[in-house]
Amino acid sequence: MRKIGLLGGTFDPVHYGHLVAAEAARDARRLDEVWFIPTFLPPHKPQPGADGARRREMLEAAVSGNPAFRVEDIELRKQGTSYTVETVAALRQRYPDAEFHWIVGSDMIRDLPNWRRAEELAASVGFIGLERPDQPSDDASLPEYVRSKLARAEMPPLGISSTDIRRRIGEGRSVRYLLPDAVIEYIQRNGLYES
Ligand code: ATP
Repeated sequence: MRKIGLLGGTFDPVHYGHLVAAEAARDARRLDEVWFIPTFLPPHKPQPGADGARRREMLEAAVSGNPAFRVEDIELRKQGTSYTVETVAALRQRYPDAEFHWIVGSDMIRDLPNWRRAEELAASVGFIGLERPDQPSDDASLPEYVRSKLARAEMPPLGISSTDIRRRIGEGRSVRYLLPDAVIEYIQRNGLYES
């Protein structure tokens, strides 16, 4: 069985918090690969910044050169609201020889019980949880069906968020060393997040 980590997110834009979390999960749980899954954002809702094609291209620039990382655009291609439980079911059907683990930062861990068909999701994947600074998550408050599937991985705390990066770019400030140079170049070339 290949062990695959799945990291879902908006990635608007991808940054070193995402990449370090993915690598920490891979290392701690001995995953063969980590797949980054950008979420589809409905066009009629306010968009934080970049459209799906651009968020995918930034991810591809960020993971190129790492054979253990790749972008899986299943949710973008579906073009509608994707629920994690459905994404995982589709991937399990397509890759029957793989064992999937859903990677989550601590802001998302707290929210897991509210996800669509959360119990069914927990029955089909393991969760790998990483702490984010200022986003403490208390495992004791999680329902047993989540807690029993949650494995923790350690990473050096990185207080990096896409929201902060978008704000800095809007203010004309530097974002160097918060995300890969190739992604910064892509953002500049396409004039993304400028106010
Ligand atoms: P935004 O600021 O736009 O809400 P974000 O930086 O939180 O974006 P997402 O794309 O929403 O990024 O995050 C995708 C996944 O990566 C989530 O599970 C999130 O918890 C995790 N993650 C994001 N940043 C970090 C970080 N600095 N450390 C650990 N996990 C992170």
